Amino acid sequence: MLVLNAGSSSLKVCLYQLEAEPDTVPPPCWHALLDWGEDPTTAKLKVKTSHQQYQSILTHPQGAITGLPAWIKALLATLTEGQTAVVQTLDDICMIGHRVVHGGLRYQAPVQVDAAVKAAIAEFSEYAPLHNPANLAGIEVMEQLCPQIPQVAVFDTAFHAHLPRVARTYPIPQELSAAGIQRYGFHGISHQYVSERAAPLLELPPTALRLITCHLGNGCSLAAVKGGQCVETTMGFTPAAGVMMGTRCGDIDPGILLYLLRRGYSVDQLDQLVNRQSGLLGVSGISNDLRQILAAIDQGVAAAQLAYDCFIYSLQRGIASLIPPLGGVDALVFTAGIGENAPSVRADVCHGLGWLGVHLNPVANEQHHGDRDIASATSRVRVLVLQTQEDWAIARACLKVLAA
Ligand code: AMP
Repeated sequence: MLVLNAGSSSLKVCLYQLEAEPDTVPPPCWHALLDWGEDPTTAKLKVKTSHQQYQSILTHPQGAITGLPAWIKALLATLTEGQTAVVQTLDDICMIGHRVVHGGLRYQAPVQVDAAVKAAIAEFSEYAPLHNPANLAGIEVMEQLCPQIPQVAVFDTAFHAHLPRVARTYPIPQELSAAGIQRYGFHGISHQYVSERAAPLLELPPTALRLITCHLGNGCSLAAVKGGQCVETTMGFTPAAGVMMGTRCGDIDPGILLYLLRRGYSVDQLDQLVNRQSGLLGVSGISNDLRQILAAIDQGVAAAQLAYDCFIYSLQRGIASLIPPLGGVDALVFTAGIGENAPSVRADVCHGLGWLGVHLNPVANEQHHGDRDIASATSRVRVLVLQTQEDWAIARACLKVLAA
């Protein structure tokens, strides 16, 4: 199974070698990263297998969009040639899975890609202009390079496609809702993966579980998962909504945007403000990267402390807002870069939720190994740290489509 995760300035690709669905998450036997974030005409390619590494620089005078087919071709060549070769020909790949950010309400499960699916991904590009065109470009390039291999689209919105109407509906005139302005939610591949992983760890049947899953990376979102179904989530019509993030503001007063528009801001400037200049970066003025915020706090930088405090407060408010739709909570789940690696964030978020019966075991919280329960023995609410495995979740979805 080859898994592609295409972004606006990078492409991650993994190959999994599978006989059947294994009991534990297998590492990919090959993975590659193509990154043109610094300069759109130049991509850095890094390839890794269990024994070998390979790096090169790829260029294209017209930049990423036109250059992508040639760059992907060079990336795929490292699968079959040189030190990083792990298969004899591309025909050894039986299926290609793609992460696709927006599938609207139409796609509630992974689907095999055909002309209608491609048209829908293009149609939803209007809602996800940074992501869907990149996802579609990945699909089309792979179709050109390996037309014989079936492709599957796995949607980040699919896990949220059953949100109750009351959770999906914005308080705006309903003709706008009918035209598609609704809460869709994102990071669904991750929220679904960790919510399924939680049940066996808690030794409880998934049908009985009420979970709040906290995907805290550069993008952050929370989801309320009841009996395996997502019933509420913090991201909305776009991934800019909800809790504070690395560079995105999350929920702010919509009147601020109107005020700035009237002050002469352009739509592009507002887009930059909301998506790229806010969040931890905007408040601290230092970085969107939590590690740098923590380092600045250690040096006594007040703006970094304020950014951190706002982030924790936003998460606590977000978590509390998900309790009514669940009718209580059995476990909090922390995942992604911050959720998995920042014990201080977990401790500070949970410290403000003692009233809810959330109590950490401070020793377990500081340990850094594997999926685990870090709540104290007497905590009414369990607290799990789970590694999200989005690439593996996509490979597993492909296995299911193949079996079907
Ligand atoms: P992701 O988008 O999931 O890759 O997560 C990126 C975020 O995780 C960035 O804010 C990083 O600073 C944060 N992160 C990664 N590792 C650590 C760590 N060891 N301690 C604190 N934050 C971390």
